[in-house]
Amino acid sequence: MAIDRFGRNIHYLRISLTDHCNLRCVYCMPEDMTFRPNAELLQDDEILLLMRLFTQLGFDKFRLTGGEPTVRAHVVDLVRGIASTPGVRSLSMTTNGVLLSRLARPLAEAGLQRVNISLDTLDPEKFRRLTRWGKIEDVLQGIQAAEEAGLTPIKINAVVVRGYNEPDVVDIAALTVDHPWQVRFIEMMPFAGATDLQLNQGVTAQEVMSRIEAAFGPLEVANDGKLDGEARIFRIPGARGEVGFISTVSEPFCASCTRARLTADGRLRLCLLREGEVDLLTPLRSGATIQELREIILEGIWYKPWGHALSEGVIPLNRVMSEIGG
Ligand code: SAM
Ligand code: SF4
Repeated sequence: MAIDRFGRNIHYLRISLTDHCNLRCVYCMPEDMTFRPNAELLQDDEILLLMRLFTQLGFDKFRLTGGEPTVRAHVVDLVRGIASTPGVRSLSMTTNGVLLSRLARPLAEAGLQRVNISLDTLDPEKFRRLTRWGKIEDVLQGIQAAEEAGLTPIKINAVVVRGYNEPDVVDIAALTVDHPWQVRFIEMMPFAGATDLQLNQGVTAQEVMSRIEAAFGPLEVANDGKLDGEARIFRIPGARGEVGFISTVSEPFCASCTRARLTADGRLRLCLLREGEVDLLTPLRSGATIQELREIILEGIWYKPWGHALSEGVIPLNRVMSEIGG
């Protein structure tokens, strides 16, 4: 079991399969973003070796992310290898959905269980502005393909950016009336690459909730008032799906954090919003034994930071969001 010095059992790993992406969301990366060469990224066999190590340490919940995980070469084969690692209980992916219309079924057949798909607006023109060049039809077709492939329950992630999509939260929440989806509104977090926008155009979960309640009336508490991951869950009265709020900035949930992140270039990142990382790639490539790697991971986890310090103005600036794996 991997325990940190505050007694938290860390058993959830988010793996960034690549820092590359086929979109350029304004809140995530600059338009002229450059990506790492393939040789600097963890190779398939390295990811699978680390998977075996993490599962032996008690990790049982995994999320594949990026960058855009679906643009990784041979992603279906890699997912098959990850899914068949003994000890994997939960395997999901966070994706922009652009490539899902052709990948949803093969990914499901390879062992992927669920997807979270990012969609910040239902307006094609605003979608293009937010993603800089995305076509919303691709994502809508991707959602449909994911549902048909059984990658359910579908979760939709929406980041809310003032001046871009704050009125659109009502239409996005309305999706849950007829669809059994969970729509989750995420407070924008600050990183390198888009820091000005992230710091100045954020919208709190409270404001998003007020806008939705102004349209639909008071939301009902769902999930018995328990967090689902990091989201507080509600329901529009009579709706099939749920509405969640991820208020990392205004109401952090660090005390109950059970997660660690593996960056695409092989660093173990213990807190999304702290710069500290433990290099696994170098020891892996310089012949460290399994026992040595195990000790490096366990020591890193032991020193996982208590939480972020955004309220004290401490902002992680060593990477953009897509490099860490959101
Ligand atoms: N490309 C995939 C996608 O967009 O779903 C996976 C990677 S993306 C970095 C993971 C999640 O982080 C997405 O839901 C995205 O909307 C969110 N995200 C990106 N930048 C963010 C920021 N600055 N603050 C909060 N969430 C952010
Ligand atoms: Fe790409 Fe996802 Fe970042 Fe958008 S949020 S630029 S889709 S990695």
